[in-house]
Amino acid sequence: MRPDRGHHLQRQAPTPADATRAIHHGESFAEETGTVMPPIYSTSTFAHGNPGGFDYTRSGNPNFRILEGVLASVEHCEHATVFGSGVSAITAIASSLSQGDLVLCEENLYGCTVRLFEQVFAKFGIRTEWVDFTSPEAVSSIAARKPAMVWLESPTNPLLKVIDLRQVCAAAKAIDVPVVVDNTFATALVQRPLQLGATLSLTSTTKYINGHSDALGGAVCTDDPTWQRKMVFAQKALGLQPSPFDCWLITRGIKTLPLRLRQQMANAAALADHLADHAQVNWVRYPHRRDHPQHVTAMQQMSAGGAIVTIGVEAGREQAYAVCKALHWFTMAESLGGVESLICHPATMTHASVSTEVKQKLGISDGLIRLSVGCEDASDLVADLDQALCLLR
Ligand code: PLP
Repeated sequence: MRPDRGHHLQRQAPTPADATRAIHHGESFAEETGTVMPPIYSTSTFAHGNPGGFDYTRSGNPNFRILEGVLASVEHCEHATVFGSGVSAITAIASSLSQGDLVLCEENLYGCTVRLFEQVFAKFGIRTEWVDFTSPEAVSSIAARKPAMVWLESPTNPLLKVIDLRQVCAAAKAIDVPVVVDNTFATALVQRPLQLGATLSLTSTTKYINGHSDALGGAVCTDDPTWQRKMVFAQKALGLQPSPFDCWLITRGIKTLPLRLRQQMANAAALADHLADHAQVNWVRYPHRRDHPQHVTAMQQMSAGGAIVTIGVEAGREQAYAVCKALHWFTMAESLGGVESLICHPATMTHASVSTEVKQKLGISDGLIRLSVGCEDASDLVADLDQALCLLR
């Protein structure tokens, strides 16, 4: 049996702000020593009948529980379950589906999520339909198609489409269909999917939550106890658990999430404005800019614009690569959300596994570049991009 998570934090300070929630643990398991940072519980198993109710690390560990407590607190929800990666968290949710079930998916999802649905879950009879959830027809198709689940990402990777979560969740709720929102790009500090009506809020904690590009993790948050039981079951039954060490790192990382994100978002907004006026840049996508196609929705459901900026340049693959490689402060790499700026060519990196036709349809072209803006000084980042974009003159 998995014991209830402590509500120590809530008891001591009923309404702490997010910056406080990110730093203080509900549980520390350190009563005897007074240790400020929790130890790493590097153990595979636990003596039977221990007061914490621990059993075997695949089905729970103090470091999981500490991180789960902080994540639930920051998300302002009842339950969080941690996994070994964002992909493990996706797998955990998909494992609740049955053969023949239909999942109505936003057509622009992270490439490996698409690959999981099309190349793995499809083999087990899970059907998917891909729709553009920014269109009213897609929202009304929920009632007509009666899917077993709706799967969204907002903002999407890499196009930064913003889906009206309140509207989609209401349409799904009307026919009792659960909605999953991948909230990796926004984080709970910027957007709270559960409060907008989602059933499950999924995050790759590898990204902003950890923030230092040195661990992988995933989490699913929910207020629904039935879904929580399913997530705990998937964690242990499918072996999707993280390592205690990675949980410890992510617990340390999340403490500075509010600080990091503030700097990253200020940098991203400044870069987006600069690039929008740049002669070598065709277009800029940033959710809180007025020219974003779903700007009004972004202003309503996101408290800030996030720290990813996507741009379109007039370039073929080789030229786009040359720009990415000419940068000093942006490393050309997969992933995002760390304190260091990264640059990515989605067509050949994060979305390499998506078919050419689909990429063309969605607009993931060779001239599309995604920036994960870090905590460096904004003027250094601007100067760096300027010198690299000169290659396109
Ligand atoms: N969801 C989104 C939006 C992502 O961008 C990623 C990874 O880039 C994932 C999920 C998968 O996370 P992980 O790499 O931790 O498995």
